[in-house]
Amino acid sequence: MDLTLTAVQRDLIEAVRKFVDREVRPAARALEHADAYPTQLVSRMRELGLFGMGVPVEHGGLGLDYVTYAHVFEELSRGWMSLAGVLGTHGIVCYLVRTFGTAGQQAALLPRLASAELRGGLALTEPEGGSDVANLRTSARLDGADWVLSGSKQFITNTHEGNLFATVARTGGAGASGLSTFLVEKTADRATTLHEGAPLKKLGYKGVKTSALTFDACRVPAASLLGGEPGKGFQQVMSGLEVGRINVAARAVGVARAALEDSLAYAEERVTFGKPIIEHQAVAHKLADMATDIEAARWLYVAAAAKKDAGERCDLEASMAKLFASTMCTRATLEGIQIHGGYGYTDEYDVERYYRDAPLFTVGEGSNEILRTVIAKGLRRRAK
Ligand SMILES: Cc1cc2nc3c(=O)[nH]c(=O)nc-3n(C[C@H](O)[C@H](O)[C@H](O)COP(=O)(O)OP(=O)(O)OC[C@H]3O[C@@H](n4cnc5c(N)ncnc54)[C@H](O)[C@@H]3O)c2cc1C
Repeated sequence: MDLTLTAVQRDLIEAVRKFVDREVRPAARALEHADAYPTQLVSRMRELGLFGMGVPVEHGGLGLDYVTYAHVFEELSRGWMSLAGVLGTHGIVCYLVRTFGTAGQQAALLPRLASAELRGGLALTEPEGGSDVANLRTSARLDGADWVLSGSKQFITNTHEGNLFATVARTGGAGASGLSTFLVEKTADRATTLHEGAPLKKLGYKGVKTSALTFDACRVPAASLLGGEPGKGFQQVMSGLEVGRINVAARAVGVARAALEDSLAYAEERVTFGKPIIEHQAVAHKLADMATDIEAARWLYVAAAAKKDAGERCDLEASMAKLFASTMCTRATLEGIQIHGGYGYTDEYDVERYYRDAPLFTVGEGSNEILRTVIAKGLRRRAK
């Protein structure tokens, strides 16, 4: 597998890195502590074309491969993880429409997703549980030419700013084969049947809004059924979660990298016992371990993304990348606080934010307990 980046890939990643250094890092701390939606930065991401990263060029997007796409998520998260949240489930919706949508759905939705006229969200998790996807309860029944959706979703990101939700609902019998995906647009005529809840108060991941999303006999046309055929929802969304898990692994690498870069700079400046703390071996070794872990995690997500680019199933690789990168990130951000000493525990430095953002990676897009099960199943499948 050739994992070297081309000049075009490097240029785009570099452009995002510059945007992060010039515009995101200086603004992130204030936005985070105000829990403020980053309206201006989101406009800049739109100008950079980032909402169309996963949309094919013929539909008005950048048509990026998943290796580059994941690198972009690493760079954004190095600046502020919440920015990656604005694009994360939007990217999954783009993937679902591009991969499973009918020609009509692709033509109608992809250009609007690329321009950010439509902002995507994934409505999968329910109040009774996110891990047991096959048993979710939101229902969709046919009524004439329409589907009518009823039920509640929980922890949905981008509910407030988003306006196109890939919603998984039960159209048939029990289990995974009874699920279908609907592309539900938040329009004025659905204002009374599709509502978002108040934003949840979260440990981290501030600014971007996450809330409940309720479908109260919400009527959508038959053309909203992804791919036009019921019963395919589980398979579609699991394929989409491969992209989501690569993306989460890349975000974890970005946050860990921010912790490393800040800690390296602090360790050069902070003097104890007459020398910079980086000259104390115990501190230097922490930095060495953080850097080594980050490098390993990056290669795992790149390998998974390259497999996705080759059109191959990569649930095992994407799960390994997310499992390793997320646990690595919780370790690295805690070490970052340790290197900053008492100051690391205050909001004078960004490292406390990295530490608060890290646990989302071990829970979201499939908890690490569930991912270990996915990996073990994959190992058995391959051994046979
Ligand atoms: C900030 C945030 C944003 C989110 N955004 C979205 C979004 O945009 N769209 C969306 O659909 N969801 C979203 N989620 C939901 C997220 O994907 C779920 O929280 C996650 O899948 C876990 O589901 P749960 O919270 O219901 O936990 P549960 O499924 O109730 O699990 C609770 C605990 O039990 C463990 N567990 C459960 N079953 C098993 C098992 N069989 N074996 C071993 N351990 C098990 C889990 O690993 C976990 O530790 C978001 C969550 C958060 C916190």
